[in-house]
Amino acid sequence: MNKKILVIGGAGYIGSHVQKQLLDEGFEVVVFDDLSSGDIVNVLDGATFIKGNILDEALLNDVMKQGFDGVVHLAAKKAVGESMIHPEVYAKNNIIGAINILNAMANNNIKYIVFSSSAAVYGMPLYTPIDEKHPIRPINYYGYTKRAIEENMEWFDKLGKIKYISLRYFNAVGYHKDGCIRGKERNPQNLMPIIMEAATEKREGFSIFGNDYDTEDGTCVRDYIHVSDLAKAHSLALKNLFQNNNSYAINLGTGVGTSVKEIVDATEKVIGKKLNYSYAERRPGDPAKLTADATKAKEILGWKPEYTDVSEIISTVWNLEI
Ligand code: UDP
Repeated sequence: MNKKILVIGGAGYIGSHVQKQLLDEGFEVVVFDDLSSGDIVNVLDGATFIKGNILDEALLNDVMKQGFDGVVHLAAKKAVGESMIHPEVYAKNNIIGAINILNAMANNNIKYIVFSSSAAVYGMPLYTPIDEKHPIRPINYYGYTKRAIEENMEWFDKLGKIKYISLRYFNAVGYHKDGCIRGKERNPQNLMPIIMEAATEKREGFSIFGNDYDTEDGTCVRDYIHVSDLAKAHSLALKNLFQNNNSYAINLGTGVGTSVKEIVDATEKVIGKKLNYSYAERRPGDPAKLTADATKAKEILGWKPEYTDVSEIISTVWNLEI
């Protein structure tokens, strides 16, 4: 597609996969990233790179003056625990950063934005699978920042400045199957990269947080979605905005729940060796089960995950290590 897209946070884990998807579909891609957690090796051939921070309003304005058909915004801090200790860092980076982006868009008549939101906006699930009508009650500051940004997008939309699609991710895992994205996250906080560090002996072992949950094997159940499937939803969302000019909040998950223990067992099978782990206390704020009702993604975007087998997803990560 012959449209020009600014991918903010495009050098990060999800952003780089979005970049790949857009380039493969013929979009013109400009990556804007401060490389605080992203990696320059994730800027792919064919994309233009601008190093910058979303708190730099003047630079954002300058960049947007080039003219873009749409923006994908993925630049955010995302460690839930840290957000409860340093809300000020999350208020600044996530909320103020996003408002700077919306302002720069409004100033430069750029109408369309796809935003990387999170299932964290829902808080403790009252039921699963969670659909978009589920009450929004974030229980950590990170989730609140995502909701605050959605609310700002709702206002900018009402006031005629933008149209948005907010994609509420469940648990993103995996790497592009071709191995073209090689940048790893530094100090990962999520289960899959932590397991991989243990598998490659970058760390001694890891803990499974809680084995007394009300689930089949006692460990938490999550909805793990392959990052390339997530990435595909971003290009579908952009095309939907261009065509239909409507705003939406949409869940992105597979609808299938997998327990932490099942992930660990599947990983051991894929890598062909035992992992060193032990059971630890529950992590505060973790719901027993979190799965997505992704009907809306299918209906509105025509999206459906291609990866449904957790072992296949794990293989896409392990392939980068061997
Ligand atoms: N988890 C774990 N050990 C770890 C990291 C995570 O047992 O070292 C569990 C965590 O409690 C949750 C699941 O793995 O049940 C997924 O956690 P992650 O942080 O990857 O994503 P979240 O569900 O918090 O978005």
